[in-house]
Amino acid sequence: MTRPFTKVLIANRGEIALRIHRACQEMGIRTVAVHSTADASAMHVRLADESVCIGPPAARDSYLNMAALLSAAAITGAEAIHPGYGFLSENANFAEMVEAHGLAFIGPKPEHIRMMGDKISAKDAMRRLGVPLVPGSAGAVESAEQARAIAVEIGYPVIVKAAAGGGGRGMKVARGAHEIEEAWQLARTEAKAAFGNDEVYIEKYLDRPRHIELQVMADTHGNVVHFGERDCSLQRRHQKLVEEAGSPALDGAARDALGATVTAGLRQLGYRNAGTLEFLWQDGQFAFIEMNTRLQVEHPVTEMVCGVDLVREQLRVAAGEALGYAQSDITFNGHAIECRITAEDPVDFTPSPGRVNTYHAPGGLGVRVDSALYSGYSVPPHYDSLVAKLVVHGATRAQAIARMKRCLNEMVVDGIKTTIPLHARIMDDPEFQAGDYTIHWLERFVAR
Ligand code: ADP
Repeated sequence: MTRPFTKVLIANRGEIALRIHRACQEMGIRTVAVHSTADASAMHVRLADESVCIGPPAARDSYLNMAALLSAAAITGAEAIHPGYGFLSENANFAEMVEAHGLAFIGPKPEHIRMMGDKISAKDAMRRLGVPLVPGSAGAVESAEQARAIAVEIGYPVIVKAAAGGGGRGMKVARGAHEIEEAWQLARTEAKAAFGNDEVYIEKYLDRPRHIELQVMADTHGNVVHFGERDCSLQRRHQKLVEEAGSPALDGAARDALGATVTAGLRQLGYRNAGTLEFLWQDGQFAFIEMNTRLQVEHPVTEMVCGVDLVREQLRVAAGEALGYAQSDITFNGHAIECRITAEDPVDFTPSPGRVNTYHAPGGLGVRVDSALYSGYSVPPHYDSLVAKLVVHGATRAQAIARMKRCLNEMVVDGIKTTIPLHARIMDDPEFQAGDYTIHWLERFVAR
């Protein structure tokens, strides 16, 4: 018999800390919030059963402070730590430390976090498991000469990417031989500065792909399932702004075929807990780019179409419970869309932290708002600019779009600038409405 957790520490802030708290509370699990001094009056702190201040505003001194987090868990008697996304969620050393202290890490095994955190070893693993890849260098590219030779072999355009990459940094495109040396050098410099690791690799640069990712969940008894795909092609600077489930471009057969390959591979690997495999999809082909070994920001769209609580599933499997259902039990119902609303100017994207005088969330059938905002709350300048995830579900994609428009119109975040007007413009666009877009669509749309 496995025993459910009784107390979980949430090593995060903002809407995701709240999201995890809500799942815990519904399962009868007590929660411990942690916070920096800048977040003392944050909603996740207000709602949690207990809270511990773990340091000053700068994330490196608080939300990234492993010793402070482990002490907070020890003082409060938490049995497990949920890392959320960002911060320490994909830090294998942290996962190891958590387990070395006799606590459960609510996420994958440290070895798999490490394996997928290095994109070169992730691609290597996927190649062995029979997952289709973007064509590219077999490993790290050590010199400008080697970069040139590989680019000629796979054909221009190519993209030089950081092995330790994340957040869209350390990526440079070379469209011809005259650009390859500079792209290789710039990607290395940016990678070194951002990740402290200048290892880079090269991929074929796809000119009109969609970004389609697959949500997976695995227990510790050898059961692995997928919850279908999300289309996250609407990106600015390689960062997602709008996500959908399912993809307007994919049919059930293509999803099932990919899902079968991926789940068989992860079963062989002994993967556990949640994960997302990201693919580029062009000309009817999937090509793996990376795997995220954590819960994603955009997980709610999957929850809306599958009727599953992914955080609950994470908590159950981390406590040793079996999934208790098979792939054939998972069904996809209707369509869901998420708009990431950030505290930024909707035209030039300059940050806009500050006091929210009035906050009013939209509601009604098929509407979900994941946000830590409240009237009178001050959005601190120290962290990610995401302030709300507006998620809608509809029987059809057209209905979901109509619902999203209605909600964007209803929503009030007064006192700061947000990207609500940009999302409204996207929902009104005929090309978006036709589902006719690639990863390059939004950059052009924003520049119009
Ligand atoms: P990160 O970890 O920084 O998010 P990814 O490898 O996931 O980096 O890539 C982020 C985005 O960059 C992708 O969603 C896609 O839009 C673009 N991208 C990455 N690799 C390629 C490629 N080979 N061809 C075209 N676009 C790419």
